[in-house]
Amino acid sequence: MALYDIAVVGAGPAGAMSAIRAGRHNKAVALIERNNAIGKKILLSGRGRCNVTNIAPLSDFIVRFGRQGEFLRTAFSKFFNQELIDFFKVKGLELKIERQGRVFPVTDKAISIVEVLKIYLQENKTACLYNKQVIEIKKDNGLFRLFLDTKEEIVARKVILASGGMSFRATGSTGDGFVIAKKLGHSIAALMPGLVPLRAKESWVKELQGLTLKNIRFTLRADKKKIVSNTGELLFTHFGVSGPLVLDLSSEALDLLKGRKEIRMNIDLKPGLSPEQLENRLVREFRLAGNKNARNIMKEILPLRFIKVFLNLAAIDSSKQANQITQAERRKIIDLLKLFSLHIVGSLPIEEAMVTCGGVSIKEINPRTMESRIVPGLYFCGEIIDASAPSGGYNLQQAFSTGYLAGESAAE
Ligand SMILES: Cc1cc2nc3c(=O)[nH]c(=O)nc-3n(C[C@H](O)[C@H](O)[C@H](O)COP(=O)(O)OP(=O)(O)OC[C@H]3O[C@@H](n4cnc5c(N)ncnc54)[C@H](O)[C@@H]3O)c2cc1C
Repeated sequence: MALYDIAVVGAGPAGAMSAIRAGRHNKAVALIERNNAIGKKILLSGRGRCNVTNIAPLSDFIVRFGRQGEFLRTAFSKFFNQELIDFFKVKGLELKIERQGRVFPVTDKAISIVEVLKIYLQENKTACLYNKQVIEIKKDNGLFRLFLDTKEEIVARKVILASGGMSFRATGSTGDGFVIAKKLGHSIAALMPGLVPLRAKESWVKELQGLTLKNIRFTLRADKKKIVSNTGELLFTHFGVSGPLVLDLSSEALDLLKGRKEIRMNIDLKPGLSPEQLENRLVREFRLAGNKNARNIMKEILPLRFIKVFLNLAAIDSSKQANQITQAERRKIIDLLKLFSLHIVGSLPIEEAMVTCGGVSIKEINPRTMESRIVPGLYFCGEIIDASAPSGGYNLQQAFSTGYLAGESAAE
């Protein structure tokens, strides 16, 4: 039976970073991964380009993580975005900054990130134990016993649990860590999909599948509660809506939906124009259009594919000539441009979410060390912790920062 100073469960960004840091302190580290390689989810991240972090200041990061933000302050303070950028640079991988402060490798390939992690692990001579799934962990006489699916057993003085969330299961993150942590006495905050497309009640969304509406804003409403998005893009799918704006507000949308059958999504298709400005524009377009039909005039205002559904909902015959459109119909068009409604009834399942919300309760983890407050010698890092953020590179930075802190603390 092998005895290690530290056993790390899961070789995603959090686990790999924690193993790298612990290895720097000359500890005997075993990195146990059920896949045959590290970082399978990293390869999918940022559509294969890996949005590895964001150049936003620490205060913004704290805000992005909402109620859990303060918990992450120490981890971010010890190893933040610039340190992460330098960590890759030292091994020859330059990173670049794109819109909204998102940071990507200059190669535009997520594999470059994984390659650097591999170099560090090789330098440390970390024992990477692939194709081994940890089934259970027990603590006996101050030592941790890790039981593997291969019937092997690994013994370690300390354990870092970095098994991720439970989305995109094919990457290996199937939620094992939650079961293991629970058995060890931890509470798991309710697991919910985060950064997930939303399902709509209206069947006409199917007709719009693949269509992106640019520069829109939406408001989610239930009774008197409302959530307002920024201005940005919305993508129609065959089941509902997606795109960055929707993904970022999906957790809040699901919170609002709790206990309700549906909530309303009101889309402002022209947030930059007041109803009066729209009225003036339409009057002008209609005057110029003469005997053009409604469909042709609306081409100036909306994407072509959207017009059929739009005019149907406005109850306007698309072949009607501009000079026959009544004032009431014009009013209807303006109202619908400012308030285009659909009903949100749920989301895709957690398996198809980009992150898992919920996880090991932060009340039971020491934020200064990432050590369990319940089981001394047990540490957590990455998505297994109840701390996720919107898209933009924040979640990977969380994984790297908490991984760094867990690795350093466990090695002390
Ligand atoms: C499609 C997609 C795109 C994304 N894009 C971005 C992005 O661009 N930027 C960003 O910041 N975030 C992105 N994310 C989120 C980000 O990838 C995760 O937050 C991050 O990977 C979490 O890191 P982790 O190390 O905690 O967990 P994971 O990356 O999930 O790694 C956990 C590892 O543990 C292993 N494991 C699990 N259970 C066991 C077990 N019992 N025994 C052994 N091994 C086990 C798994 O196989 C896996 O390799 C994206 C997520 C998805 C799904």
